[in-house]
Amino acid sequence: MASELGDLSGRVALITGAGSGLGRATAILLAQRGARIISVDLMFDSAAATLKLLVGDGHGAWCADVARQKSVDEVVEVALEKFGRIDVLINSAGIAEGMGATLDRDLSHWQRIIDVNLTGSFLMCQAVARSMRDSGGGVILNLSSIAGVIGLPRRTAYSASKGAVSMMTKVLAAEWAPYRIRVNAVAPGYIHTPLTEKLMDEGRLDMDAIMRRSPTGEMGTAGDVAEALAFLASDQARFITGVVLPVDGAYTVYGAPEDAYPGVLGHDRG
Ligand code: NAP
Repeated sequence: MASELGDLSGRVALITGAGSGLGRATAILLAQRGARIISVDLMFDSAAATLKLLVGDGHGAWCADVARQKSVDEVVEVALEKFGRIDVLINSAGIAEGMGATLDRDLSHWQRIIDVNLTGSFLMCQAVARSMRDSGGGVILNLSSIAGVIGLPRRTAYSASKGAVSMMTKVLAAEWAPYRIRVNAVAPGYIHTPLTEKLMDEGRLDMDAIMRRSPTGEMGTAGDVAEALAFLASDQARFITGVVLPVDGAYTVYGAPEDAYPGVLGHDRG
């Protein structure tokens, strides 16, 4: 029988990138819904700082580099030793590039983005799904992006990594459904987090242009994405697997030639 609406009591959720932005907001929300959180980030201090923001007891923090198999295997092993099982995996660890002409990029730049965003998500999925298969199922949620859906010029590696994360999500959903493992992704639009803030500070995102192109005329909030992830993690989504859910205020469906938002721009109403 399905649990109370959105209730995640008793669930163990491992979240990568939990020390910042979308991962942190999702950790906070899932803890409010009753989950115990395994907060994982590249830097232990960021992962641990998130713990202080969580309600409830029994959470834990570890550092890991998702791009390195040894690091992934170690953190999953330690988490399983301490928590006994992992019911929900959220792959929010990721890095973004500023815009840059593809012809000027070097291989190391491409490789690093692919290693973290795509290979990192793959390694985490593989390591955690083994235990989910053995414990009777679970939920895996990946972070794709609008960049994985539509063509954003000069963001080649990032877009390729996110398009591949979406496709990997569909493949794993199809392959692991018999294990009762649901695999979904969300594809956020422009969301206010430290990641986008850094790009804005460096002048690498033209916010006025982006907002004019955004039908709602605003950026999303980390809470908007966390709510979508919390729903997909819940029993209410029990028959939903293999989807890539846009959380983008209609950014990717907008196709008209004129500016999408005619009103006065307020970059962040969140
Ligand atoms: P964020 O605030 O920068 O958080 C990402 C976290 O991942 C950071 O704490 C970062 O640590 C960590 N991380 C980076 N490389 C890692 C690695 N190799 N191993 C483990 N952790 C690592 O970014 P965000 O905005 O929350 O984005 C989260 C995810 O959503 C990313 O996959 C991003 O591509 C995706 N996304 C974001 C947006 C948006 O508008 N914000 C839109 C679409 C998709 P450090 O800070 O120490 O590097």
